[in-house]
Amino acid sequence: MLSYVKGPDAPLLEITVDEGFRRTVAAHPDRPAVVVRHQNARLSWRELDAEVERVTRGLAGLGIETGDRAGVWSTNNLEWLLLQLAAARLGLVLVNVNPAYRSYELRYVLEKSGMKALFLREQDARADYRRILEEARAGVSLPLRHVVYFEHSSWREMLAKGAGYAAPSIDRHDVVNIQYTSGTTGSPKGVLLTHRNLINNAHLVAQRLRITPQDKVSMPVPLYHCFGCVMSSLVCFLTGAALILPAATFDPLATLQAVAEERATALYGVPTMFIAQLQHPDFGNFDLTSLRTGIMAGAPCPIEVMRRVISDMHCREMAIAYGQTESSPVITFSRIEDDLELRVGTVGCALPMTEVKIVSQTGETVPAGESGELCTRGYLVMKGYDGDPDATAQAIDGERWLHTGDLAVMYENGYFGIRGRSKEMIIRGGENIYPREIEEFLYKHPAISDVAVFSLPDEKLGEIVCAWVRLRPGMTATGEQIREYCRGRIAHFKVPRYVRLVDAFPMTVTGKLQKFRMREREIEERRLEKAAGIKTA
Ligand code: AMP
Repeated sequence: MLSYVKGPDAPLLEITVDEGFRRTVAAHPDRPAVVVRHQNARLSWRELDAEVERVTRGLAGLGIETGDRAGVWSTNNLEWLLLQLAAARLGLVLVNVNPAYRSYELRYVLEKSGMKALFLREQDARADYRRILEEARAGVSLPLRHVVYFEHSSWREMLAKGAGYAAPSIDRHDVVNIQYTSGTTGSPKGVLLTHRNLINNAHLVAQRLRITPQDKVSMPVPLYHCFGCVMSSLVCFLTGAALILPAATFDPLATLQAVAEERATALYGVPTMFIAQLQHPDFGNFDLTSLRTGIMAGAPCPIEVMRRVISDMHCREMAIAYGQTESSPVITFSRIEDDLELRVGTVGCALPMTEVKIVSQTGETVPAGESGELCTRGYLVMKGYDGDPDATAQAIDGERWLHTGDLAVMYENGYFGIRGRSKEMIIRGGENIYPREIEEFLYKHPAISDVAVFSLPDEKLGEIVCAWVRLRPGMTATGEQIREYCRGRIAHFKVPRYVRLVDAFPMTVTGKLQKFRMREREIEERRLEKAAGIKTA
């Protein structure tokens, strides 16, 4: 038996995001739609629709037109959701910008996407976004024409000056969203996703989880990521389930409170978020019995954690999802009726209308049980990388197979296991980090001659970032100064936890860096054997 499956046949939805949303509004106008706890906002579907219409008119009033790009650079809030829906209604392309991005990354995204408007908060406890934006814009000419701050008069003015708009003609194959993934080539890549991609992925996920208008989904993951804006918000917009945002950024206590007080039926998160809730000292004080289901995804889910989520958090129909931004995102998903062993031990089986195969390095489909690179094909494959035909051609082959870069195995029963990554990616908490991107950033430092970035094991985050640095002759800098240089310029999760200054790197005879040897030395000197799962005498 070869490692190839096609998920069951099912009718796909041939509608746009706005058509899907309008159906829900018409079917359940008075049911709860959105609860944003940190903003004290509670809207029914009818109320949400009215707000979306106000924002759509506001966007039209700014002169932003169908096909234009508009960015949102913010932690979770009501405005993010309104922009997601209003942009879709007006036929814009929403550009999701990671709120952890700092000036270097932001400038890249502003230039590359060509967005005409950017929506953001002025500042929060983490950052002064206005200052970072000013730094990113300094000395470059950008197509950005409107900067709108949520808590500021610019947002209110935009709404007050709203204008009528002609119903745009939107094709479901049009791009509706750009989501950035860190690239192996050093810069983030904009993944172009269409209405058809996202609507159907959300639809099939909702079906697998049996989401209904009676469900209430508590969602602490960031909206800029596909887990937030497809598997969570779009699933609710399509099904009529209520979406609960517990806080602006993940907070274990706020999440537990949201579940208990709102009587949530579903809880989503990356594994580290569930671990943080299970370990919280107040965990036992919350009544979580309303929970039925949930999704854990984004990184390997430890079996023990999955077991405790099912038993101690009452998520008896908990599922695991596997996928990536380029595949809208979900490729494989548990069936909630699967027994525990299958749900905790695999990443599930192919969603309907989804082909999956495992190939060897030479591109042949391998026998079941053998590991290789996981590839997928179908409605879910992205349109491509924004403005990057070479990278697109590397990711999607001539037969439209998307090569994920993940090492996986297909078992005889058609379920999949993820074995590792064929790329060097680091997963810190739920955040994916490409060492190459940080290396290229550090090469810009005037004192740095050579750098190698790699992962170290960490008991809390799974993996953390470590950098070895060789300075230019005659230059001085400390590890702490290099870390300081990173802060404010790149996202906090990419800033190396440890920077070691070295005179030379371990190399192979052919001059390839041996990162595994650097890692071994760090593990030994920092006594990380426990986190690395290495037994010591
Ligand atoms: P992203 O594009 O940010 O969604 O990241 C996708 C990557 O995260 C995949 O290519 C995998 O390497 C990893 N990933 C996602 N889901 C899982 C999972 N359930 N188990 C293991 N790794 C996962």
